[in-house]
Amino acid sequence: MAEEKQDKFVMNFEATERPGRPPQEYYDEIKAKFAEQRDVRLGYRPPGTDNYRDLDGAMAYLARDPYADGWAEREPIDDAANGDDVDVLFIGGGFSALLTSARLREKGVESIRIVERGADVGGTWYWNRYPGVACDVVAYDYLPLLDEMNYVPSRHYAQGPEIFAHCQAIAKKYDLYDLAVFQTTVTETLWDGETQRWNITTDRGDTMRAKFVVCANGTLAKPRLARIDGMARFQGHSFHTSRWDYDFTGPDLEQLADVRVGIIGTGASAVQIIPNLGKHAKSVHVFQRTPSSIDIRDDWETSDEWAAKQGNGWQAKRRAKIVSKLREQADRKGQLRHGITREEKIRRQENNNIDQMMRIHKRIDDTVDDQATADALKPWYMLMCKRPCFHNDYLPTFNRPNVHLVDTQGQGITEIGERGPIFDGVEYEVDLLIYATGFEVQQTGIYNRIVGEGDVDLNEKYDSGIRTLLGIHSAGFPNMFIMGGYQASFQFNLTDLLQVQGDHIANCISHARTAGVDTMDVTADSEEWWVQEVIAHRGKTTRNQECTPGYYNFEGQENRRQDGNYNGGFPAYIDHIADVEAEMDAHFVFTTG
Ligand code: NDP
Repeated sequence: MAEEKQDKFVMNFEATERPGRPPQEYYDEIKAKFAEQRDVRLGYRPPGTDNYRDLDGAMAYLARDPYADGWAEREPIDDAANGDDVDVLFIGGGFSALLTSARLREKGVESIRIVERGADVGGTWYWNRYPGVACDVVAYDYLPLLDEMNYVPSRHYAQGPEIFAHCQAIAKKYDLYDLAVFQTTVTETLWDGETQRWNITTDRGDTMRAKFVVCANGTLAKPRLARIDGMARFQGHSFHTSRWDYDFTGPDLEQLADVRVGIIGTGASAVQIIPNLGKHAKSVHVFQRTPSSIDIRDDWETSDEWAAKQGNGWQAKRRAKIVSKLREQADRKGQLRHGITREEKIRRQENNNIDQMMRIHKRIDDTVDDQATADALKPWYMLMCKRPCFHNDYLPTFNRPNVHLVDTQGQGITEIGERGPIFDGVEYEVDLLIYATGFEVQQTGIYNRIVGEGDVDLNEKYDSGIRTLLGIHSAGFPNMFIMGGYQASFQFNLTDLLQVQGDHIANCISHARTAGVDTMDVTADSEEWWVQEVIAHRGKTTRNQECTPGYYNFEGQENRRQDGNYNGGFPAYIDHIADVEAEMDAHFVFTTG
C-alpha cells in the first residue's frame, strides 16, 4: 500500500547491506563532495544564526499581520486589581495549547486563557497561508484530536486551510475562545513567590495572573530574514512567506499576471509556493543558496469508504501502532548491529542514505529539461541534514519559460538594489520580492523574559547550557511547562511529541489539583539526571558537523552537548515520562500554602 511510503524512507536508514552495491570508492567520492559543498557554504558565512535577522528596524513593516480583520481595541486586563487569576495560561495558541487544553478540560480544569499574537488560534496554520500551503506529515496522524473531534481529514496530506479550520473547531468545542486574548504578545512572565502565581505582562499593557503557565509558543514561530545589504532600498513590494499579502497578489494569484516576482530561499515553504508562482506570475526568479531534496508526494483524497471504516478511537490506535513500530525498529536495529562494529554500521547507514540521495538526483535529471538547471537543483548532503521536501510540481516548474533559477552556489544573495536582488554583478529586476528565509528556531520557551524563583532569568540559567527535565520542566520555575523545546524527543510528526507532552502536562496539573498542592517544581537531581541523559545520547556520530548548515544543526555551529533534542528515541522518551509520572514525589517538590 502506498500509504506512509513517504514517512518510511525519510526515517529509515537501517544498517542493512544491499547486494550489488557500487564499490565503496563511489560512496566515498560522494561523501567528499558533500563535505566540499558544506565547506563552501561555511566559507561564505560565519557558522550560527548571525546571517539572519528579525523583521525589525527598517524591515519591521514585514511583520504586519495581513490576515487580521483590523485591530481589536480593548482595555488592558489587570487581574491583580480585580482579584482574578486563571488556572492555566498558555503563551501561544497553536497545536500545543489546543491539544493540552482539551486534556485539561477532560480533567475538569475550567479557567484556561490563551494569549496569542495572531488574531485567532492556529499558530503555524494561522500565519502560513501562502498559496500551496500543506503539511508533509500524513494528515491522519498530524491533525490533533481527530477522535475527540470525530473528524477524518479530507486528504492524505491536508492543506493549510483545512488544518487552520480544524484548530478553530477545537477552540470552539473546548470553549477556548471565552478567555482567549488575541493580537497580544507576552513580554514578561514573572514568578511571585508570595502569591505563588505567575504574573504575565503583555505589549497591550495587561497584567495577568495564572497558577500554571505553559510556554506553547511553537518551535518555528518567529519569522526571520537573511542579513542582506540594501534590503530597505528595494523599491518594489515585498513580504515574508508567513505574511502573504493577498491584497497584492489576489486570492488566486490572478493579479500577478503582469508581475515579475523574485523569491529568496528554497526551503520547504518556497518549494510549495514556487509552482503556484510559476503558473500565475509574469516571471519568477528563484534565488537559491542550497537546494532542497524533493521526493514524490503520494497524496490522495480520503475515500468515504475508508473514512467510514475508521471506528472509535481510530487515531489513538494509529498512534499506538506507530510507537510499537518504532519499538520494533529499535529492536531490529539492535539485532542488525550485532556482530558489526559501530564504524561498519555508520558506513552502511550512510551508503543507504547516499543511495536515497542519488535516487533524488536521478528524479531531477528525469524531470528537468535543461541540464545546467537540473545540476544546480541537486542537493549534495545526506538526507535529513535538511528538512526533506515532497512535491510533484516543483521540479517541472523549472521547465516553464517564465521560471528562472538563479543558483548562488552556496553564497546566497548578499545585496539588494532598488530594483531587485544582485548576484554576480547582475541586478535582477523584480516587482515583488518574497522572503522565503524561514524562522528562528526556538530555544525552549525564551521568547519573552521569564523570571523564576530568586529572580533568576531563564535565559541566564540557560547561559551555560539548557537544563530541563524531559524538555518540559526547569528547576526554579515552578508551575511552568515548556512545549516543543530542546531536550525533548524530536519527531518528524511534531504532533506526536506535542500530544505526549500535552498529556503529561495535563496529568501534572491534575495531580497537583487532586493533591491540593499550590506549587510543583522539578528537583535539582531529577533535572541533572535528564541533562545527563540528553548528553549521553548526543554526539555519538559526527553527522551534525558533517551536514551542510541549516536549522537542524544550528546553521553549522558547534553546539553545547545538551542544547539539542533528546536522541534516545521516542519510545524511550514516552517510557521516561511514564516513569516520572509513576514517581512524582521523587521528581518534584510540592508545596502548599
Ligand atoms: P527554511 O529555513 O527551511 O528555508 C530558508 C531558506 O532560505 C533556505 O533555502 C536558505 O538557504 C535560504 N536562504 C537564507 N538566506 C539566504 C540568502 N541570503 N540567499 C538565498 N537564500 C537564502 O524555511 P522554510 O520556511 O522554507 O521552512 C521552515 C520549516 O517549516 C521547514 O523546515 C519545515 O519544518 C516547516 N515547513 C513544513 C512544510 C511541510 O510540511 N511541507 C512546508 C513549509 C514549512 P540555506 O538552505 O542555504 O540555508
